[in-house]
Amino acid sequence: LVIGEHIVKSFGEGDEKHNVLDGVSVDINEGEFIAIMGPSGSGKSTLMFALSGMDSIDSGRITFDGSDISSVGEAELSDLRRSKMGFVFQQSTMLKNLNILDNIILPSIRDNRKNVAKISEKARVLMKRVGIAELEMRDITQVSGGQLQRAGICRALLNSPKIIFGDEPTGALNSKSAQEIMDIFSEINAGGTAIMLVTHDAKVAARTERIMFMLDGKIVSELKLPKFDGTDIDSRVEKVTEKMW
Ligand code: ATP
Ligand code: MG
Repeated sequence: LVIGEHIVKSFGEGDEKHNVLDGVSVDINEGEFIAIMGPSGSGKSTLMFALSGMDSIDSGRITFDGSDISSVGEAELSDLRRSKMGFVFQQSTMLKNLNILDNIILPSIRDNRKNVAKISEKARVLMKRVGIAELEMRDITQVSGGQLQRAGICRALLNSPKIIFGDEPTGALNSKSAQEIMDIFSEINAGGTAIMLVTHDAKVAARTERIMFMLDGKIVSELKLPKFDGTDIDSRVEKVTEKMW
């Protein structure tokens, strides 16, 4: 689904210049569930931004679902992002003067005003699925962090993307809410959507089937696990923790 070859990206000038992504190659298969781990500053977010075309790269090549996103124009790229990718972040990117439902549908109705009713209906189905059906009229300041994150997932799912990119989507949640969010991601993944999450939490990573460990702009190791079936979480966490050091 996503193929990144020898991706190099640097920040800074002169002596300060360094490769934040130092020749990273990675491929994400259709329907795959992946976690990226690694210390702060190792390049995890930068890699995710690069793979999703949110950020440019200095060299290398990224192919998304057959399109070379390192060379397509901005219009085509944003089209691709809107139709095939969903994004969930650690902090909510929702607007305070809109209720939950309006926040969820906003990006989708922006260029599709005729279909507001249909899009709202789809949003309601998703809200029900993640357990926030009754919150659609609430202001975003009146819901919990976990509920807000569920709303963020609905927004990411609204266009039926092929992949969801999550940059520490459970990072601001307590461990119970984090596991509930992971239950939702597992269910989404079981439906065939690929998911790539950045996380610092071994328990979150242990729910995925492939964990990539980054260090200084490189993927230094990788752990493969069978798809999570609800059992054996302790031994999965143990395997992740072992690899982390
Ligand atoms: P964290 O776990 O703290 O989120 P990360 O692995 O996601 O870390 P990145 O955000 O990818 O790390 O950053 C990698 C490196 O690139 C860091 O050294 C960071 O300071 C640097 N960096 C990221 N964005 C920029 C930018 N826009 N300008 C300059 N340097 C940047
Ligand atoms: Mg980051």
